Amino acid sequence: MLNQQQDAFRPKIPATYCYYCGHAEFAPFCTDVHDRLKISHESWAFVRCTSCQAALLSPRPDTADLPRYYPTHYTFEPGKQPGKLRRLFSFAEFQFFYRWFYEAQVSITLRLLGNPAPENLRLLDVGYGSGLLLNNFKQRGFKNAEGVEMRQSAVDHVNEVFGITARVIELDQLEITYGENAFDVITMFHLIEHITNPAVIVAQCFTLLKPGGALIIAVPLSDGPLIRLRGNRAVTLTEAPRHVSLPSHASLMQLCKTTGFNRFAHHSDSALNCAAYYGLTFFPEGCTTSQHTVSRLLPLINRALMAASAFACLPLVLLINRVMKKPDAMIFAAFKPA
Ligand SMILES: [Zn+2]
Repeated sequence: MLNQQQDAFRPKIPATYCYYCGHAEFAPFCTDVHDRLKISHESWAFVRCTSCQAALLSPRPDTADLPRYYPTHYTFEPGKQPGKLRRLFSFAEFQFFYRWFYEAQVSITLRLLGNPAPENLRLLDVGYGSGLLLNNFKQRGFKNAEGVEMRQSAVDHVNEVFGITARVIELDQLEITYGENAFDVITMFHLIEHITNPAVIVAQCFTLLKPGGALIIAVPLSDGPLIRLRGNRAVTLTEAPRHVSLPSHASLMQLCKTTGFNRFAHHSDSALNCAAYYGLTFFPEGCTTSQHTVSRLLPLINRALMAASAFACLPLVLLINRVMKKPDAMIFAAFKPA
């Protein structure tokens, strides 16, 4: 719930140009979108870039106001929930769901990179959240994996729990902090849809990468079947106003080509992640954030229903991802010229 005692919110900003391709014409896309976490009680709308088909939240909150729409517990972390039962459930979730989800994302990344030996590659995970994926990169051979987050608590967490180096850095300070040709791989998993300046961040990543290095972007897409099926109830949209945009494959290609990247590859995101989108669309009360509320049993029941519906949708998602090749989320690789 937003604290009404805080300073007034700045005026909202309508979309005037596409964050990905720079185009300035939009068509209506989706209206009457409501925040699934109920932090915002407003009605939001997305427009669609008529050139690259990216969906943009319009109007969107001022960038300075965006942190106010995030809950204290936003990403999944096993063992952080209140109460023994919920903590136990979270460890089961990690073993049966998240562990495999992150394993799949690392495997897809390695495949997109051409299955290199990861031992000597320096990897930077930008906006790593709980650090579970970053730790999976380390466990799979990326000994030189490090991270960047916006909160000191997230940095302390990966230092202490996983022994991984991380820093608190504002995203527009990456270039000043690391300089040119510092990394072989930069990953941004489910970050770009939350930021209002993807072109600035992608340009900084380009500078940070060594020649031949790769930027890996995982993101929900504007043209996936879930939005066609559920419209303004799709979780990728009801994550507004934290989701300020959803690109298409063409949006990412356009943005990365303009930046200077010259080789590209892509793969559907982990099927478990895509299936979770369906589960969360049908049972929004089963989200991670709800597991930190004071009430005891109802959040667990909702979480179990969400998980059951996600697993029930898994065969459909596998069909969508592997046969139709029109996924709801994608992992995209852009390579800097060698
Ligand atoms: Zn566009």
